[in-house]
Amino acid sequence: MSSISENLKKVLSTLPDDVRLVAVSKYHPAESILEAYNEGQRVFGESHVQELQVKHETLPNDIQWHFIGHLQTNKVKYIAPYVSMIEAVDSLRLLQEIERQAAKCGRVVDVLLELHIAEEETKYGLTINDCRQLLEEGEWRQMEHVRICGLMMMASYVEDNDQIAREMSLAADFFDEVKERFFADADYFCERSWGMSHDYLIACRCRSTMVRIGTTIFGERT
Ligand SMILES: *Cc1c(COP(=O)(O)O)cnc(C)c1O
Repeated sequence: MSSISENLKKVLSTLPDDVRLVAVSKYHPAESILEAYNEGQRVFGESHVQELQVKHETLPNDIQWHFIGHLQTNKVKYIAPYVSMIEAVDSLRLLQEIERQAAKCGRVVDVLLELHIAEEETKYGLTINDCRQLLEEGEWRQMEHVRICGLMMMASYVEDNDQIAREMSLAADFFDEVKERFFADADYFCERSWGMSHDYLIACRCRSTMVRIGTTIFGERT
């Protein structure tokens, strides 16, 4: 058995039943993805549009591709025809462009709103206040080709597990607020995407529904 399938099985065995795995395959070759695919994994995460384009064209078409990186508005058009979920929507402008491009191809694209809660300044995402404001302004309600399915975030990259858990719990509490105020009747608003290789077990304790794991499955990226 290859190490990728061993790693994948190990990760899956540690996930609670209600937490889904996004196998983050960025920078890893098609063969690696196929090893995980042959073990039954179908959801993969990529963060570069060009790389995703090539992989989408060459790999099995029942793969569900999640775009997890920062997405420039001028590149939405390339992935709108097939992407399964855009996880890191961090502006109204990006949401508008996804709506426009999804409409063009007659699709409804699932998205998550990315929160910036971590202390690091380099990370993208909406502050809790900006996210609340975007939802209150309500333009998203007219968008028939995007479906806001939940929230996504990255915790600070620190040793302090308590800090990681605090940040994830803050996101989970905010999810509850958003659910109640804006999506109470929308069953599809149910995703909390947090947890990566180094902190996914913490994420599972902090109400994650979707973990994005790369290195632990595929090894170091080159
Ligand atoms: C690369 C990446 C991951 C996976 O990180 P690992 O540490 O390799 O598990 C998760 N989420 C996002 C947004 C990423 O860019």
